[in-house]
Amino acid sequence: MSQSGLLPHQEKELAFLRANNRALLLSEMGCGKTPVMLTKAADILDAGGCVLWITTKSLGKQLVAEAERWIGVPPVAFDKATAEDSFLWITHESVHRRAEALTLRAPFDYLVVDEGSKLGGLGEKPSAPVASGIRGVLQAARGSVVATGTPVNSPHGLDLWALAEAAGLPVMNRHEYESGVRWKTISTNRWQTKVPDGIRWQVFDRLARQITPSAIRHTLADLEADLPDVDTQHHQVPLSQTAAQAYQQADRISDTLRWHQETQAASRDTPLVEEALQIVRQHSTDSMLLFSDQFDLLDELAHRLTQSGVKFGRITGNETETQRAAAQEAFAQQRLRLLLVTGAGEYGLNAQAASRLVTIAQTWSPAREAQRLGRIRRVGSPHEVVTHHIVSPAVALEERKQARLAKKQTLADLLWQLLHGNEPSCAHGPLQHHMGMGGDGKPFEALFCPQRMRNCEPIWL
Ligand SMILES: [Zn+2]
Repeated sequence: MSQSGLLPHQEKELAFLRANNRALLLSEMGCGKTPVMLTKAADILDAGGCVLWITTKSLGKQLVAEAERWIGVPPVAFDKATAEDSFLWITHESVHRRAEALTLRAPFDYLVVDEGSKLGGLGEKPSAPVASGIRGVLQAARGSVVATGTPVNSPHGLDLWALAEAAGLPVMNRHEYESGVRWKTISTNRWQTKVPDGIRWQVFDRLARQITPSAIRHTLADLEADLPDVDTQHHQVPLSQTAAQAYQQADRISDTLRWHQETQAASRDTPLVEEALQIVRQHSTDSMLLFSDQFDLLDELAHRLTQSGVKFGRITGNETETQRAAAQEAFAQQRLRLLLVTGAGEYGLNAQAASRLVTIAQTWSPAREAQRLGRIRRVGSPHEVVTHHIVSPAVALEERKQARLAKKQTLADLLWQLLHGNEPSCAHGPLQHHMGMGGDGKPFEALFCPQRMRNCEPIWL
């Protein structure tokens, strides 16, 4: 560590923010982006400027504590701020609601947008009020940094485009980018629907090049020595026939709420709960997080744990702030070794005491998956290896989900190579780009190993 208390990779990021008036800070979760942005914010405050920090509600509280620690100046919540306060924070959702009040204080000398993947909402829904509200404040600001560890959360990268455009970077226009998006038709029993399936390589490559001068990124690999390794264990669980049918049925529902209800109902009395209990029993001295979006499943799990006399805490969004804080503290101090968590605990929960993460049915979002793992795979973890148990129903829907997660991850990995100024390559040289018509009569586009080695999987775009 240097005198500033920052790690070497953080020093580089700080220098980058100081040299670039508008920047994207894309380092992976767990790299410690907050202290870097706080130090940059302190520059501006010292020079008499005004800084606005946009973040999530749960991270806002943490930000106040971290700011106190790193720069000795805590930000004031926007709604409580007086005209004299120059370091303010607000939630993403409040920006458009408080647009008028913000305009009165604007332009800000420096704007920090944390969890910037929320801006990606512009990718799919250009009019989404949260994203367009932030875009307005961002572009009016004299300088800015948008931070996210997961800028690509789609199979086409439109969210990356939206993020860069909102941040005021010189990127191609929306129409131009969208012309590169490839669609495919999915047929179900009842209807056909078009879904985005990929992106033209040339278009993605150009976008990455347009962004590169303004973006900096470190991966956990850059600080590998300080981080625990991950051991991933897949648990494929066969469902009962009725449950499997209900789960598959949900696949045909486009309404999110109904989709959720169907999978929820199917998960309740399935062997998924058994499998999770089994993991808890097998590692009875380890601290672990159990993540699921299925409230019913977590309720059943809670019921069974209580029956067996196992203590646990919950972070599901239904608790009061005090209850949540108490559960977190008991876990951190190892008085509790089990936390049941829903999406409510994905952001801002530091659970580095844990050595195991149990995900019961993955989501469709690589960002959310990374957030979950990021709760336990952190600098400062006392463990050399953390284990990620992925428990999923053995149904076709889950296989499709995993394939899609892998494809999105591929696009994100490609972006990192391009951002570092590297041509995408494998151990055998730069990858070769090909487009054509496949044997199945469908057009394809992919990057191939130059020597077509069998163990080098092509990257399908
Ligand atoms: Zn190769």
